[in-house]
Amino acid sequence: MRAIDLIIKKRNGNELREEEIKYFINGYVEGKIPDYQMSAMLMAIYFKGMNIKETKTLTMEMVNSGNIIDLSSIEGIKVDKHSTGGVGDTTTIALAPMVAAAGVPVAKMSGRGLGHTGGTIDKLESIKGLKTEIGLADFIKIVKKIGVSVISPTLNLAPADKKLYTLRDVTGTVDSIPLIVSSIMSKKIAAGADKIVLDVTTGSGAFMKNMQDALNLAKIMVKIGSEMKKETIAIVSNMEEPLGFAIGNSLEVKEAINILKNKGPEDLKKICLALGAHMLKLGGIVDTIRAGEKHLLSVLKNGLAFKKFIEMVSEQNGDVEMVKNPDLLPCAKFTLALKSQQKGYMQKIYSKNVGESAMVLGAGREDKKSIIDLSVGILLKKKVGDAIEIGETLVEIHYNDVKKMEEAKKLLLSAFEIDQEKPDKTSLILATIDKNGIKMEDY
Ligand code: URA
Ligand code: CA
Repeated sequence: MRAIDLIIKKRNGNELREEEIKYFINGYVEGKIPDYQMSAMLMAIYFKGMNIKETKTLTMEMVNSGNIIDLSSIEGIKVDKHSTGGVGDTTTIALAPMVAAAGVPVAKMSGRGLGHTGGTIDKLESIKGLKTEIGLADFIKIVKKIGVSVISPTLNLAPADKKLYTLRDVTGTVDSIPLIVSSIMSKKIAAGADKIVLDVTTGSGAFMKNMQDALNLAKIMVKIGSEMKKETIAIVSNMEEPLGFAIGNSLEVKEAINILKNKGPEDLKKICLALGAHMLKLGGIVDTIRAGEKHLLSVLKNGLAFKKFIEMVSEQNGDVEMVKNPDLLPCAKFTLALKSQQKGYMQKIYSKNVGESAMVLGAGREDKKSIIDLSVGILLKKKVGDAIEIGETLVEIHYNDVKKMEEAKKLLLSAFEIDQEKPDKTSLILATIDKNGIKMEDY
């Protein structure tokens, strides 16, 4: 077999056989197939696509490039969760303890941020001392003891994805459905949970800019998951504006703590309840989504979810005082309020601009070696649909460096669209996809 022949085969729109995909992925991981040939293959896949069989094989080969975690010693049905990515997406930090408090074990591996999106692990590290690099045996021990742990992916899961994702990022091949499916599902399958809940985001701040693509992506991931004997369900959610008010590491931890104390923000809470309810249903704790949401609300109201988060922080060596009193979390030296020059209604908030402005403040990484400033970020004061008066604050910039603030401010000035008419209310959760097919939602 030769790489060049397989590139031409895919370029001409033909199906790759199992052994051909295997050859290509193995060759690439072992360094026998160079980046330039893989780049050409990725671009051929981008334009010609892959059928379900090819996508499944690609996913499986990426799983087999590294370790597969065995969580079977943890009692109960383990349910994992993944989002295709958003700005200000703080769900995991609130959701994992909520679901664990409700009785489904959560053994979760999360990522760090790169580019304009943040990562759960960086956010968690706002809590002093909190350890996320934990070996498999200790990880399992913690989940057995308290029902939840969130750690960084140090266990060599799907290394093919790591290498491929870096290459896709610089070759214009990120937003390809078979490549996204194999990237996400390989990591989820390797991570060892029994079942999977996916949040497929759509809108200007997401990879999938339109609903049809999002539905299609969700459908294929659900199918691949099921074929791999991991029951998978997906929701499609709206990412036309950032989730919640906070974007930036310690600011988002504070926001997650608010959720765990049964306060707002409403949109973030709604997503946590919807995803969590599906996790409880897959975990066999409830029969309906409605019952799941009710159960989760009860652990928010009676304090068990918050208590579970404190237990998790404590087990992972974090400073629980910072959780009990979030004012102790890293805090930027300065705050600038950006005021509106216009009266009207908020029409749109461009998530990408907001994410990038948080990044230039220092909340994200330019490259793998960048050091993150955990205290800086953006706090939205208005969301889509809100009425705005002249002189009202649209957003607060939390910063430590004036130059960086000026740059963030520039990006933010073009992040908001304000107009006279009140916009139609848009729903947050647009569809649910499971083994029975697509169900359109509107809430
Ligand atoms: N998230 C991933 O992990 N991989 C992708 O390809 C896209 C989003
Ligand atoms: Ca947020």
